[in-house]
Amino acid sequence: MKGHVKELLTELGEDPNREGLLKTPERVSKALHFLTKGYQEDPLAILRAATFREDYQQMVIVRDIDFYSLCEHHMLPFFGKVHVGYIPNKYITGLSKIPRIVEVFARRLQVQERLTTQIKDCIQQALSPLGVIVVIEAQHMCMQMR
Ligand SMILES: [Zn+2]
Repeated sequence: MKGHVKELLTELGEDPNREGLLKTPERVSKALHFLTKGYQEDPLAILRAATFREDYQQMVIVRDIDFYSLCEHHMLPFFGKVHVGYIPNKYITGLSKIPRIVEVFARRLQVQERLTTQIKDCIQQALSPLGVIVVIEAQHMCMQMR
């Protein structure tokens, strides 16, 4: 990937050999691998590993979960808050697991719509709740910066 970033810099009219840019290909490569590390993880397995039987049928809400993702059309950041609610049907999950699966799905190339439904479907599959809702508020740099 470093070679490609170097080419990209040249294509942009930059000199990839000037001091400030010498380590940029390596840094960009590391950053992109970090920002897309969600491909290596299985969010359904994360939820299933932390599912507990509980006779509780009130809505469980986890609000204001921060997320940072990259839009798949421009590979530019979009980020904001995810709010999740579900009504358990005999099974609940650890509260920390909801932000974990948000993180896994967000660390992939995404569109906001698919991110929303993937989180919803994952909870649906793992817990079979009576109902689940996911709301995402986000700012899209590909719109705001251009
Ligand atoms: Zn975009």
